[in-house]
Amino acid sequence: MSRVAVIGGGISGIATAYYLNKAGIPVDLYEAAPAIGGRIGSERMDGRWVDFGGKNIGRKYRRFRGFVRDTGDFPFEYFGFNTSQVIDGKVVSMTKESRQLSNLFGFLKLAGLRGVSVLYPWVRAVMKDNSQGMLRTPFFNDVSQKLDHLSLADCFPPRCANHLIRPVTVRMNGAEPDECYPGNFGSNLALVLDSYEQLKGGMHQLLEAFAADRSGLLAIRTGHRVERLSRCDRGGGVDVAYTCNGSGGSVSYDRVITALPAVQLSALLGGSLPEAAEILDRVRYYPVSVAIAAYRDNVFRKEQRAMVFDGTSPLSNAGAYGILDLDLVRYTFSGKAARAQINPESKAEDVIFQAEKKVLPFFSIAENIRTSMIYKYLSPGLCAYSPFHFRLFSELQDKLASFSGLYVTGDFRRGASIEACFAAAEESVKHLMTGELF
Ligand SMILES: Cc1cc2nc3c(=O)[nH]c(=O)nc-3n(C[C@H](O)[C@H](O)[C@H](O)COP(=O)(O)OP(=O)(O)OC[C@H]3O[C@@H](n4cnc5c(N)ncnc54)[C@H](O)[C@@H]3O)c2cc1C
Repeated sequence: MSRVAVIGGGISGIATAYYLNKAGIPVDLYEAAPAIGGRIGSERMDGRWVDFGGKNIGRKYRRFRGFVRDTGDFPFEYFGFNTSQVIDGKVVSMTKESRQLSNLFGFLKLAGLRGVSVLYPWVRAVMKDNSQGMLRTPFFNDVSQKLDHLSLADCFPPRCANHLIRPVTVRMNGAEPDECYPGNFGSNLALVLDSYEQLKGGMHQLLEAFAADRSGLLAIRTGHRVERLSRCDRGGGVDVAYTCNGSGGSVSYDRVITALPAVQLSALLGGSLPEAAEILDRVRYYPVSVAIAAYRDNVFRKEQRAMVFDGTSPLSNAGAYGILDLDLVRYTFSGKAARAQINPESKAEDVIFQAEKKVLPFFSIAENIRTSMIYKYLSPGLCAYSPFHFRLFSELQDKLASFSGLYVTGDFRRGASIEACFAAAEESVKHLMTGELF
C-alpha cells in the first residue's frame, strides 16, 4: 500500500502510525510542534523529565501496554488511587490502600439513594464489559437517547454532583457536571474503575524510542504545520498543504488519517467541507493548566497524596507526582473558576502562588521551599464531547463520506483517555485497510 499521511503527532497520531506500520504500511507523520507528544508531552526539570499531560496508565489499558512492549523495555511504577476533599468542613479521604468497605461507605453517603439508582446500572454495564466504557457504545448510546437532554448536574442530587461527579468531570473533561452529558459518562467510569501506574522513565523515553523507529516505515515531519486538506484535482486522494520554517509545500496522498482535536480538524476542513467543520465545532474542549513544582522537603504523607477542591477554586486538584515523589506536586487548574481566573497571559508565578495558598492548610508547604517549577496552559485542554455525541458523530460520518481517502481519529472518537485514543486509532486503521468509509 502507498504511504499514508497521519496529521498530528499526539498520542492519537502516534497510535495511528504504530498500527499502520504494524500492518507494513509506510507513514509520513506531520506534527506542527518541534517534537511529537502533544498532550502527553514532557519537559525537563531539575535534570529529569516530567510529564505535564497524560501519564497515568490504567491496568486495563491493553492496547497502550501492547504499544509500550513493542517499543522497548519500559517498566511501570505503581501510582495508585488516593484522593481527599473537604466535605462539611472535614477532610474525607478515599484511597486504594484503605479498606474497600470504608470507601464503599463513603461513596454511598455521598451518592445518596437517587445517585446510586442512576449510577448503579452504568457502573454495572462497564464492570460487566469494559468495552462499554468508551464513547458511542450500545449501552451508553441508549443512555444518551434517554437522558442527554439533561446534563449530569440535572441527573444527580447536588451533594452527589458536587462531591462525586464533579471531581471526575473536572479532571477528565475540564468541565463542570452541568457541561457534561450522561451518554458520555461511561468513558469516565471506565477510568474511575481502573487502577493506575505510570512509566518509570516517563513518557519522554517512550516517545524517543518510538521516534527512533527501526522499521524504516516511519518518517516524522516535526515542525510541519498542515494548513489545509483538500480533495485532489485528479480525483480521489487528499492534498496536504503545509508550512515549515516559513515556506509552504503540498503533497498528495491516496489516504490521510487526521489525528487532531475536533476543533483543530475543523480549521483544516473549513475551506473544503464547511458542513463537516461546523459539526466538529460543536465538540467541546476546555482549557486546563498544569504546574509541576519541586520542593526541598516532602509536601505529602504517603497516606494522603492528593486533594480535590470545590467549584469556587481555580485549583481543581493537587497531588504527588508519584508515590515516591512526595516532594513533587502536580497542580491542575480546570473547571469554571479556573477559566474565569486563568488565561494564556496569566503569569506562572502568580498561578502557583495562589495554588500554594490553597493547599497550605492541608500539606507541608508553609516552611517548605520551592526549588523549581514548570507551568503549561493547554488549549485545547480536555475534551468534554457533546450532548447526543453518537448522533453528532454519525452526522460527521455522512459529511465526510464524500471525501474519499480521508479518515478521522482523535480524542472525540472513542474518548480522551490514552487507551481510548489507541482504540480509535486501531479502528480508523482497520477502516482504511478494509476500505470502509471514514
Ligand atoms: C493535563 C492532562 C492530563 C491528562 N491525564 C491523563 C492520564 O493520566 N491518563 C490518560 O489516559 N489520559 C490523560 N489525559 C488525556 C490524554 O492525555 C489526551 O486526551 C490525549 O493525549 C490526546 O491526544 P491526541 O493525540 O488526541 O491530541 P493531542 O495530544 O492534542 O495531539 C494533537 C497533535 O497535533 C498537532 N497539531 C495540531 N494542529 C496541527 C496541524 N495543523 N498540523 C500538524 N500538527 C498539528 C499538535 O501539535 C499535537 O501534537 C490527560 C490530558 C491532559 C490535558
